[in-house]
Amino acid sequence: TGGDTILSIDDVHVSYGKVQALNGVDLDIGTGELISVIGPNGAGKSTLANSISGFLPYDGSITYKGEEIDESDPEDLVERGLIQCTEKRDLFGFMSVEDNLDLGTYVRGDYDERLEFVYDLFPTLEERKDQHAHTMSGGEQQMLAIGRALMSDPELLVLDEPTLGLAPVILDDISEGIDRIQEEGVTILLCEQNVTFAMNHADRINLLENGEVVRQGPPSELRDDDYIRESYLGG
Ligand code: ATP
Repeated sequence: TGGDTILSIDDVHVSYGKVQALNGVDLDIGTGELISVIGPNGAGKSTLANSISGFLPYDGSITYKGEEIDESDPEDLVERGLIQCTEKRDLFGFMSVEDNLDLGTYVRGDYDERLEFVYDLFPTLEERKDQHAHTMSGGEQQMLAIGRALMSDPELLVLDEPTLGLAPVILDDISEGIDRIQEEGVTILLCEQNVTFAMNHADRINLLENGEVVRQGPPSELRDDDYIRESYLGG
């Protein structure tokens, strides 16, 4: 899939005081690719996502469309099409579904065109557009968080654990949604603990453990890797 490199991560280190969360991560993403970072709790997935999105200082280099992002603030990156849907979702519970979506076009995106795309992708959001966000189920809130990120018309969408805590039926909706977002030409970085889900979507997988990429390759290869099978796919 990938054409030009849209994101390039080179020897990135991040520490929180004495905790070394990333320890020399290298990773390239081609335009149009869906790359997944998998790994257990505490492996450093969110730290990587947050470094890319301009939320955290890091050592090493991260370039987005050829420019170093380390001095950028997150809003500047959103303006340039790099959007993260965070693990915490960051919804405004006492605002309506549609008002939460509206916030996504504050910096970038054609409002009518984006809203139509989001409602077509997740019809539940349109049915519930006047409802307070906090009254939505966990899965619906996840759709809303992804929908809000899509309102900004991302070129690179960073999804941090979109499947966390979701019931299987909702997983299918999120799964179809991610496929369609990729079909639209959006490049996706999917940080996931659900290895099966990641394998079903990713062009390439990076296994992160203790802040280091210890395996890298297409799902077809990694499915046959003894270590991955034993430790992550239940033998
Ligand atoms: P999870 O799936 O549990 O969110 P993760 O793979 O996203 O895990 P991170 O959240 O990036 O992992 O955490 C990586 C390491 O950095 C962990 O050891 C974590 O405890 C530590 N860490 C993360 N955030 C902070 C922080 N703000 N202050 C101190 N340590 C932190």
